[in-house]
Amino acid sequence: MAAPDPALDDPARESSSTTSPGGGQWAVADLRITTKALPEHNRVRNRAMLLQTLFHEGPRSRADIARGSGLNKVTVSTIVGELIDQGILVEAGHVGGGRVGKPATLVALDEDSRSIISLDLSDALSFRGAVMNLRGEVSHQRETEVLTERGDAAIERAMELAEELLAVAPAPVLGIGVGSPGMVDRAGVVRYAPHLGWFDADLRGPLADRFGIPVHVVNDANGMALAVHTFRENDGRSILIVTIQRGAGAGLIVGETLVDGVDFAAGEIGHVVVDPRRETECLCGRNGCLDSIVAVPQVRRRLDDGEHRDAVMDDAAEALAAALAPIVSLLGATRVVLVGPQDILDDDFAGRTRRHLTDRTFPATTSQIGVDIGSDGGLLALQGPVVAVLSAELGIS
Ligand SMILES: [Zn+2]
Repeated sequence: MAAPDPALDDPARESSSTTSPGGGQWAVADLRITTKALPEHNRVRNRAMLLQTLFHEGPRSRADIARGSGLNKVTVSTIVGELIDQGILVEAGHVGGGRVGKPATLVALDEDSRSIISLDLSDALSFRGAVMNLRGEVSHQRETEVLTERGDAAIERAMELAEELLAVAPAPVLGIGVGSPGMVDRAGVVRYAPHLGWFDADLRGPLADRFGIPVHVVNDANGMALAVHTFRENDGRSILIVTIQRGAGAGLIVGETLVDGVDFAAGEIGHVVVDPRRETECLCGRNGCLDSIVAVPQVRRRLDDGEHRDAVMDDAAEALAAALAPIVSLLGATRVVLVGPQDILDDDFAGRTRRHLTDRTFPATTSQIGVDIGSDGGLLALQGPVVAVLSAELGIS
């Protein structure tokens, strides 16, 4: 018998695909194996797969879970037993019965069994936070002004907000999730967020040290993409979130993988030059950056100056489409969600963006593309960090 292909047999290699509902996709990061599989990987992975099933498909009997996952019944019963002891799963009535066999007991995820603290630091003038359950539903919300604090003072303000929220959490806290502007690495260090004065600022460390619970930090736009992926209806194949506020940012999921890029700068699309002949000088010193055309203050200024709304919005939509066209063509993206102030980012703007996008791309790649307005951007910004915690701690996303 030929030696088995290690690439096919190595459970570590499969980990990113088997925990995802779509399955079958290799993660970009998994192109080469760098860690060997340990017995505990299987346990964590099986638990994640079981939780993921119950999260997305609702209550199931142990036998159904075993059938659906390919795990044997003993393994399923053991994991379910542990999770019931921890209060994360509950028994939820019976199903079936009749002449053959006794009714099967359903098990369900108890979405209120844990609280997650979410901090959204993306707003220029205030930090928002919430206590949420495992479904990303808010039970308490707080907001604190951050007008002048920068650097360590801003981190301290985030810690105070977390402390307030921890005090009112109704259930044991699974972790703290933070959505931060700027470039955020996987250790929770904000590499670059100039308006908060954060340059290589460790956001995770101080929070984890003070509160002694897991802390996970994500870029705010990446978080929103995770929130759409986990909490909204979607085909699970690709999601491109574009946030437009004082600048433009993007979060991208392709084939169940969050693409954060080398140096964690993926999604920084604001300084893509879409029209170098323009006289709109950007903060970065060049002409015709996307930011200098679509940023909300820029659009408002033109409207206030009396330019016709159709002309202003069409110009912004065309600039955005010019920046997005190569991205959606290259990746075969199927869904673009625009998040920003609703008086600017409305259905008309989404329609214009879609038209310019299809004008600028090969029809076969973009004829099916959806461009939507994420009308609940504030909630998405809070749910993103929740997914970071859910995914890291329970394997649910
Ligand atoms: Zn620029």
